[in-house]
Amino acid sequence: MIGGIVAEIAAEMAAIADRGTVAGYIPPLARVPVDKFGLAVVMADGTLHMAGDAEEAFSIQSISKVFALTLALGAVGDQLWKRVGREPSGSAFNSIVQLETEHGIPRNPFINAGAIVVCDVLLGRLRPREAIGQMLRFVRELAGDDDTIRIDETVAQAEQDTGFRNMALANYMRAFGNIHGDVGMVLGTYFHFCALAMSCRQLAMAGRYLMDGGRVASETGPHRVITESRARRINALMMSCGHYDNSGDFAFRIGLPGKSGVGGGILAVAPGIASIAVWSPGLNEAGNSHLGQLALEWLVQRTGWSVFEPRAG
Ligand code: GLU
Repeated sequence: MIGGIVAEIAAEMAAIADRGTVAGYIPPLARVPVDKFGLAVVMADGTLHMAGDAEEAFSIQSISKVFALTLALGAVGDQLWKRVGREPSGSAFNSIVQLETEHGIPRNPFINAGAIVVCDVLLGRLRPREAIGQMLRFVRELAGDDDTIRIDETVAQAEQDTGFRNMALANYMRAFGNIHGDVGMVLGTYFHFCALAMSCRQLAMAGRYLMDGGRVASETGPHRVITESRARRINALMMSCGHYDNSGDFAFRIGLPGKSGVGGGILAVAPGIASIAVWSPGLNEAGNSHLGQLALEWLVQRTGWSVFEPRAG
């Protein structure tokens, strides 16, 4: 049944003319054709359903913030929450305004300022090259994939060349003492994380640990990535803060933990049921994939997977 729904939604999306606007702030993203659409769903039993351009790699951008947070929690545990909050910001992903009144403590790890602090935390123990290598190994392992997941250096360089707001955020937090390391190295790491290129299939596979209480099934049995309570909390943050200042609307329409990126990807999790990745590069005004959100909305309507759906037991 789910295979049919996935195929049906991809076909319906192909017929929609209003696809939003592709991110234009860097040339490698601006060049991506707006008619791309991919959807991949991995079920708890491991079965995989895909449609459209689900095997084509795209820039996952801010979805990497979920994986960076997971690594940082593994490195320093709950100490992280002294330096990053857990509240929705209600502001744009790259906003600086709240940092002044909130003394350089970003609202949450999914806005740029928060993710930059997360990178600084990772660099407390590693050099940038090591942290980037660790991230790449981590997502490859989570996806159970080959070596095809890579960092797009053209994207990383373009982020670096145009990242003036991120530089402002990092320097501002440095002034408050909430960036400890070298600002240039922290940002270089952050830009490389944003430049991770993955397909919907790889992303949905990588999200399995959030579907399954922090574990991933492997040939040798379940492998624990993080504790169950951390997986639950990351899902809670994805639900409340995963879609920039559109997070409330995403929860309202879709009702799943999710994280979007300006490359047009969204990773969404139906705990205990499925890990879902969708990609359509045209964005809405808040910077979330326009068709990606619509596809997820139709998917939950047809499957009843919203976490707010009454469940037996
Ligand atoms: N890489 C961009 C930035 O840091 C945006 C990331 C995103 O929100 O997807 O400004």
